[in-house]
Amino acid sequence: MAADTGDVTCAVCHKTFSLAEVRRVCDSTPGTQAALRAQLPDIQPDQHVCLPDIARMRRLYLEQLLEKERGELTALDEQVLQSLETGTLVADEPDAGWDDARSFGERAADAVARFGGSWTFILLFCFILIVWMLVNATGFILGRFDPYPFILLNLVLSCIAALQAPIIMMSQRRQEAKDRLRSENDYKVNLKAELEIRHLHEKLDLHLHRQWERLASIQRLQIELLEEAARGDGARN
Ligand SMILES: [Zn+2]
Repeated sequence: MAADTGDVTCAVCHKTFSLAEVRRVCDSTPGTQAALRAQLPDIQPDQHVCLPDIARMRRLYLEQLLEKERGELTALDEQVLQSLETGTLVADEPDAGWDDARSFGERAADAVARFGGSWTFILLFCFILIVWMLVNATGFILGRFDPYPFILLNLVLSCIAALQAPIIMMSQRRQEAKDRLRSENDYKVNLKAELEIRHLHEKLDLHLHRQWERLASIQRLQIELLEEAARGDGARN
């Protein structure tokens, strides 16, 4: 250990770090300490461990915790653990770039589905139907090209229905994929928040415990001083 330069050796990877880059084993949270002890059974509380190793141990601890509580880890859980270890954001915008990445067919499907599900479409369609029937009933302008019972109109309607259904389904499938991405993102953010809050709790508990210990030792010191003072007074009298 190069103690004269203020550098310390990490107990896990045995590399040399400055004091700002390491943490004592007893200063890390209980979960991280447990993972450290599982890896290195004879590690001492006053030994130093570098921050990357602390992050790695914390990840190991959380991995075991998740596995114990829920069984197999999913790819999403792995992503969350990875982001916890590296300290990167897990939330991404599922909507960003989604609409721009559509192919021409997908854009057309979305446009048809949007138009097909609007009042404009319904009113326009009713208008066309009425005009078609009126023209063929009266022979006005175009003559009776599709007389009662409007068999050509039937064919046109069937064709429109047959085409519209798969186009709407296409658009819905894309919407579903988008929703799935969104819910996956929500899951990751929630899991990460839960784990971070748990970590925060552990840190706070550790801190409170330390403070309580310090307070108790100060109190002990005060009592000793008082006793000493009382003894001194007694001897003088
Ligand atoms: Zn290390």
